[in-house]
Amino acid sequence: MEHRTHPTVDDIYMALSPGIPTLSKTTVYNTLKLLSEHGAAHTLTIDERNICYDANVSPHAHFLCKCCGKIYDMEVGEFVSKPSESLEGHKICEIHHYYKGICKQCAQEERLDNITTIN
Ligand SMILES: [Zn+2]
Ligand SMILES: [Zn+2]
Repeated sequence: MEHRTHPTVDDIYMALSPGIPTLSKTTVYNTLKLLSEHGAAHTLTIDERNICYDANVSPHAHFLCKCCGKIYDMEVGEFVSKPSESLEGHKICEIHHYYKGICKQCAQEERLDNITTIN
């Protein structure tokens, strides 16, 4: 929870299992499922190969880099209403904003690569 990252079940399992030998991946998965059902964590499906979890449940957008697979937190635009507000009569509990592309770090490296290729 203290980590402001977007871990997968595997990430959490790998991080916790040395300290908790009895821990199973199913336990991790079930705990995360419970947390997200209670609104204490969000399930991110931005990366269709890996479901990630986010302990930051305040409205924010996510950016997935197609190059390095890193997920960045992003500010949400003003057009988004807050959770618990209703939108066209529907009660909003969660808001997911997904952006995908090439992150600034990868874009920079790509540019460097291009320069080397030209030379
Ligand atoms: Zn990247
Ligand atoms: Zn996030």
